[in-house]
Amino acid sequence: MTSFDRMLTDAHARPAADCLAELDATPEGLSGDEASRRFAEHGPNHLPEVRGRGPVLRFLAQFHNVLIYVLIGAAIVSGAMQHWVDTGVILAVVLANAVIGFVQEGKAEAAMAAIRGMLAPRAAVLRDGVRVTVDGASLVPGDIVLLEAGDKVPADLRVLEARGAAAQEAILTGESVPVEKTAQAVAADAPLGDRQSMLWSGTLVTQGTARGLVVATGASTEVGRIGGLLAGVEQLTTPLVAQIDHFARWLSFLILLVSGLLLVYGIFIGHQDFSEMFMAVVGVAVAAIPEGLPAVMTITLAIGVQAMARRNAIVRRLPAIEAIGSVSVICTDKTGTLTRNEMVVTEVETPDGAFTVEGDGYAPQGGISPAGDLSDLALAAALCNDAALRHRDGVWSVEGDPMEGALLAFAGKAGGDHDARRLDAIPFDSRHRFMAVLTETAAGPKTFVKGAPERVLGMCEDIDLPQWQDRAEAMARRGLRVLALAGRAGSGPQIDRAGLEGGLTFLGLVGLVDPPRPEAIAAVAECAAAGIRVKMITGDHAGTASAIAAQIGLANTRRVLTGADLDGLDDTQLALEVADVDVFARTSPEHKLRLVTALQAGGLSVAMTGDGVNDAPALKRADVGIAMGLKGSEAAKEAADLVLADDNFASIAAAVREGRTVYDNLKKVISWTLPTNAGEAMVVILALLAGLALPVTAVQILWVNLITAITLGIALAFEPTEAGTMTRPPRPRNAPILSGELVWRVLLVATLFLAAVFGIFTYAIDKGYPLAVAQTMALNMLVVLEIFHLFFIRNIHSTSLTWAAVRGTRVVWIVVVAVTAAQFAVTYLPPLQAVLGTQDVAVMDGVLIVAVGVAFLAIIEIEKQIRLGLKQ
Ligand code: ATP
Repeated sequence: MTSFDRMLTDAHARPAADCLAELDATPEGLSGDEASRRFAEHGPNHLPEVRGRGPVLRFLAQFHNVLIYVLIGAAIVSGAMQHWVDTGVILAVVLANAVIGFVQEGKAEAAMAAIRGMLAPRAAVLRDGVRVTVDGASLVPGDIVLLEAGDKVPADLRVLEARGAAAQEAILTGESVPVEKTAQAVAADAPLGDRQSMLWSGTLVTQGTARGLVVATGASTEVGRIGGLLAGVEQLTTPLVAQIDHFARWLSFLILLVSGLLLVYGIFIGHQDFSEMFMAVVGVAVAAIPEGLPAVMTITLAIGVQAMARRNAIVRRLPAIEAIGSVSVICTDKTGTLTRNEMVVTEVETPDGAFTVEGDGYAPQGGISPAGDLSDLALAAALCNDAALRHRDGVWSVEGDPMEGALLAFAGKAGGDHDARRLDAIPFDSRHRFMAVLTETAAGPKTFVKGAPERVLGMCEDIDLPQWQDRAEAMARRGLRVLALAGRAGSGPQIDRAGLEGGLTFLGLVGLVDPPRPEAIAAVAECAAAGIRVKMITGDHAGTASAIAAQIGLANTRRVLTGADLDGLDDTQLALEVADVDVFARTSPEHKLRLVTALQAGGLSVAMTGDGVNDAPALKRADVGIAMGLKGSEAAKEAADLVLADDNFASIAAAVREGRTVYDNLKKVISWTLPTNAGEAMVVILALLAGLALPVTAVQILWVNLITAITLGIALAFEPTEAGTMTRPPRPRNAPILSGELVWRVLLVATLFLAAVFGIFTYAIDKGYPLAVAQTMALNMLVVLEIFHLFFIRNIHSTSLTWAAVRGTRVVWIVVVAVTAAQFAVTYLPPLQAVLGTQDVAVMDGVLIVAVGVAFLAIIEIEKQIRLGLKQ
């Protein structure tokens, strides 16, 4: 038994120092080498994968479908009647269909699995005494993990230090009230939920900060042992796909019923031969059931998910892909999303005067003018700070909050000795907007506070409050992010919390620039063109917020509502104001929830960004909750539908564009498939009812529908964004996809199919061609119509008769060439002729068929132009 297994059972009851000793660990963390050694011994820190269905089961599942049952039934009946060719063709098609479905589903699932991998959690640990962020899977027993509010606990930890820390442990205990954490050992027989000295893997830190020793990883953790938290295998579906699935299922039953009635009618009233009639009715069922539809829609979604991931928007919940295309308001954070979050201190004001700070990036080198003594301010900036600067390959970077990194760089420029031991701290919280530390400096214990000026200035004694408030205000109006710093001599061992209010000495104001992202400016303009209003919701000062909003190009930067203003409004007043105001400053996460609710009450579809643990309710409430992948907490990511890999606003606009494209493509798949099926079915039904020879045989229908139609339909899943996608207003929330317009198009196209196929068939019979030739021509007519219809559908919002539209995409041409080649093969190759009952078609007749296809395209295109004209 390794020491690590023993620790698992009683770490909570032993003193922290004991646990460290037992695991051969130190509070400074393991060395890199030791961590690698332990990794080799204990393996990666993740739970065993939930096994999906195996390939055999997945393949068999392809046969679980009404149409396949019908076909297998048909194969048995035609076998019983000794129509061996028919039986063979049916079985071959069933098999081909299952293989196509299996391969495509596998690709879609692989795409989803790859996306899940992109959301792997990371953890802050101490290695060789330095804080580094590592992949959560690389943690080993003995590692020291640093946690803050919003983090997900990456392994089972023995708490070494906790500051106001609490964790929500519902996944283990079912109890949703957060449990406070402490470094004190608890009773050996305390139940899990009472072991306050432990932080359990998979639970969420809801407040405070903590430092813990890893005592168990992977499957040895509590959550691993109960086999819980297995990331549910997400279904590849959205409301729209589910709706279509449901529709397709009932439609199939309806078609089966109608087919059955047709069979009865044909035999008893039409006095037709059973075997012929049976195969014809199977043809009707095959023609009419849109069996490929749900599968092609799933592929379309999977391709959309991949396209979004390429644009740095990772979909966590698939329905979001539809919702993001319909958003009409985007509420976004400022820092890091609209701005770069690369901060530099440029101005400092102290009671001694105003200073300008030079230098770029995080290098602690640069001049300060005029010269002066800023040592107290620099000491406060360096010590009231959780970040670290790193110098590697000539480049300075920050580990931690960039704003704190900028303060460290400033402290370096101001000079002085900033070494001290921290005794206590009050972590920053966006609700109280300050951070305080108590440190043991060379000159004795000192308390330092930094935070929003309104908050910190109020804690200081002996200052001219209105004057300093004005100066802070003036800096903010120049677009700077402003912090106030203050300090006092203190004793210990803990911060005298009551003594903070009114007992501090003011040290100075620090102004930081955080330039807007140029691509965010472009993206905001793109959103405006797309009828989407962008609103900034920030914790920053109103002046800073409005200056940045103006630089970014938000619509209304004249009025700013602050959190305090929002508190003064009731829900009705808020609903009125919220539509017009675009900048909300000094807000707390609770305000975000009120704002989403108010916007939704106005009928808007809202996307909301967030990063902190307290943003989770607003993210859940929003139509699309978006979490920041880099600076966002695990809590926010779990609540979100979408995670931005680069925290960049431009990625939201890109996701909207992709979301609109996916929705369009789903619509295209539906608008292409349904009329095609209806057209084919009507051809056979009409012939049956009229007692005519079938223009296309059942086996031919099988070929058209299960091979060519599915191949062509897939091309629509790959359609690129149509021009003008981001200049259209958002589609209304809940706009039905099976609209009156679609029904009309189904009828129109089906009727044209009917006319063209019967036309060609009758023409051939009139010319005295044998029935098989006439049927071959009708079969080719159907496929030609499908191809022209495909070119038409590719541009539902604009004309299909442009060079770009005709040139199409590579995928379209690949499928068109493949299907055309296949048509030539079944028309002219003798072995295939034998199977499908086809015969050679004369070249001129082939030209005629294509010409009818062109006429078909012209008619539906003109109809579309009339409709588009009426809409304008
Ligand atoms: P956004 O919501 O756009 O990301 P933000 O990052 O400015 O805006 P908060 O993080 O809530 O929002 O910060 C609000 C204010 O609190 C800041 O304007 C600053 O004055 C102060 N503040 C932020 N971070 C710290 C910190 N680490 N220590 C002390 N004060 C801070």
